[in-house]
Amino acid sequence: MPAECPTNVIVRNIIEIGDIRIGGGELVVMAGPCAVETEEMLYRTAEAVRKEGAHILRGGAYKPRSSPKAFQGLGAPGLSMLRDAAKASGLAVITEVLDTRDVELVAEHADILQIGSRNMQNTALLKEVGKSQRPVMLKRGMSSTLEEWLLAAEYILDAGNPNVILCERGIRTFETATRNTLDLSAVSLIKELSGLPVVVDPSHSTGKRSLVAPMSRAAVAAGADGLIIEVHPEPDKAACDGPQSLTPAEFGKLMSQVKRIREAILTNGEGSLDA
Ligand code: PEP
Ligand code: MN
Repeated sequence: MPAECPTNVIVRNIIEIGDIRIGGGELVVMAGPCAVETEEMLYRTAEAVRKEGAHILRGGAYKPRSSPKAFQGLGAPGLSMLRDAAKASGLAVITEVLDTRDVELVAEHADILQIGSRNMQNTALLKEVGKSQRPVMLKRGMSSTLEEWLLAAEYILDAGNPNVILCERGIRTFETATRNTLDLSAVSLIKELSGLPVVVDPSHSTGKRSLVAPMSRAAVAAGADGLIIEVHPEPDKAACDGPQSLTPAEFGKLMSQVKRIREAILTNGEGSLDA
């Protein structure tokens, strides 16, 4: 390595999905229900979030539930519903894959493979999505340090997939008033350490509808490259995570707030949130 070559230069990874660029300076928003439930609710949600400016439809066809008796997701039929609803609204798709045996099928339906918090250290799954051509969003394990999170990302990168997005979704602390504790300092630090795009999940990190907008605003101010937000047309009837799901109207309000924050930072700064 030449002497003048700095060793600590972080190469910023930009992940492209059609004309969506994650990590390229624009704020990318993923929104949709916790789980794929019915075709009708999915189409309604996709259309509503697209109208408010979302880029990517989220929704779980395979759900990692704490209780085996809770709704586990619709599986393969849910994947097709998600793909069709997103296509009808002109959105891309992100959905979770839980099992190495499903990676190929999920990759056929989704633009981004989501690795959930509970699977952050499932090394077999990390290696398998590392072999996929699809970008991967790696959620932080709920009890994981930044170092463990980065090492998990390295499994995917080393398997040959350079398109990794990190997602801060809150960690477990002694605090029980919120579902998890959103670690916003991790957003800035992990960007600094890795150069990978970072998305914040204010829904699972707080577990409370009233906290989703304030934490989204804070995440954008902290330099997040994107947000992933649970939205349901009728949160009270949601099969899972209703208490943290926004209505489309609440989501619309949040979108206009975060856009204003983003613009304020870009106009008053150097045109970039990077140091
Ligand atoms: C989800 O996003 O659907 C989910 C289950 O989140 P997490 O893995 O962060 O708990
Ligand atoms: Mn959820």
